[in-house]
Amino acid sequence: MSRITAGSRRRPDADDFGAALLAWFDAHGRKNLPWQQGATPYRVWVSEIMLQQTQVATVIPYYERFMQRFADVRALAAAPLDEVLHLWSGLGYYARARNLHRAAGIVCGAHGGEFPADLERMQSLPGIGRSTAGAILALALGQRHPILDGNVKRVLARYHAVEGWPGQPAVERRLWELAEAHTPTDRVGAYTQAIMDLGATLCMRGAPDCARCPLAAECRARHTGRVKDYPAARPRRDKPERESTMLVLTNDAGEILLERRPPAGIWGGLWSLPEAPAEARGDAAILDWCADTLRCRIDALTELPGVRHAFSHFTLTIRPLRARVLRQEAGVMEGEGYVWYNGRSHAGGLAAPIRRLLVSLADRTGEQ
Ligand code: SF4
Repeated sequence: MSRITAGSRRRPDADDFGAALLAWFDAHGRKNLPWQQGATPYRVWVSEIMLQQTQVATVIPYYERFMQRFADVRALAAAPLDEVLHLWSGLGYYARARNLHRAAGIVCGAHGGEFPADLERMQSLPGIGRSTAGAILALALGQRHPILDGNVKRVLARYHAVEGWPGQPAVERRLWELAEAHTPTDRVGAYTQAIMDLGATLCMRGAPDCARCPLAAECRARHTGRVKDYPAARPRRDKPERESTMLVLTNDAGEILLERRPPAGIWGGLWSLPEAPAEARGDAAILDWCADTLRCRIDALTELPGVRHAFSHFTLTIRPLRARVLRQEAGVMEGEGYVWYNGRSHAGGLAAPIRRLLVSLADRTGEQ
C-alpha cells in the first residue's frame, strides 16, 4: 500500500486508504441506520446533530420519535421550541436543539424550505460547522467534501501518527489536509459513512480492534506500538467548580414551582427550579428575594442533599432548598415562564439534573 502525505499531489481517487475502507464498508459497515433510509439533507442533518457527543444506540429512539413528530423541516420550523426541547430531553447539550429549531426557521424563511446545496451556505446555518455541512452534503447528495468529526480525527491521527492535540489549530489544519487528500471522488457517501463507522466500531478511543482493521497494514501508530498515544489528549486543566442555590417551592397541592430558564446560558429555554441569585446568601436574603421577585411569602427553608453535574467546562453543585409557599400575589407564579409541576407529566424540556432531582424528591415523598 502506498501512503498519502499532506500536500501530496496524488489523485485522491487513487488512494489505497479509501479503497481499503470501502471494501471493509461493503462487508461490515452499517447500512440499516434509520437516517440512512431515504436519506435527505433534513434526515441526515437531524442525525448528524444528534450524533454530536452522543452514541448511535442512544440516538436511534430519539431520532425515531423526532422524525415521527417532525417529518420534515417545515414541521420542525412550525413547532414551538418547547416541544423540540421536550423531545430532546435526556440527550443533553440543548444548544443543539435550539440551533436545530433556529436553522429550520432559516431554511423555511430564507431558502423556501430547501436546504442549501453548497458548503458555504450550509455552514452558515446555526449549529452546522464545516464537518457537519460536509457530512450532510456527502451522505445525502453524494457531493465530495471531507469530514473531520471526532471519530475521523482519531483514525487519521493514528494512521498518520499526527502528534499534538487536535484542538490546536495547527494540528487541526493538518488533519483537514489529510481528510481532504483521502476523500475519493466516487462513492463519497459510502466513504464518509465508512470512515465514521471505522472510528466508532474498530478504531475506538479505549480499545481499538487493530486485528480486524482494514487500515492496519499501513497504520503508523500500530507499527510503532503507540496507538494509545494518538490523538494526544487535551492539555490538563482543572475544571472550575460552581455552585447554585435552587428553590424547591411547593404549594398546598404539593406541586413544585418550575421556571423557564432565559434563552441564553446553561439550559437555555429549558424548565428548571427557580435559581436564587449568587448574592442572596443566607435564609433571610432568600426569603427577601422570594418576596421581591416571586411575590410570595414562604416558610422555613430546609436544605436537601446536593446534586452535582459535570458540564464540559465546569462542574456545578446544585444546593436545593425546600420551602412551602404560604401566600402569593396573584398572577406572578401562574404567569408565563412559570408552571406548577405535579410530578406526573410536563410538556417542556427539563434539564437532566433537575429531572433527577425531581425524581428523587418524588421517591422521598413516596417513602414518607
Ligand atoms: S490499525 Fe488500529 S489504530 Fe490504526 S486505524 Fe486501524 S484500528 Fe485504528
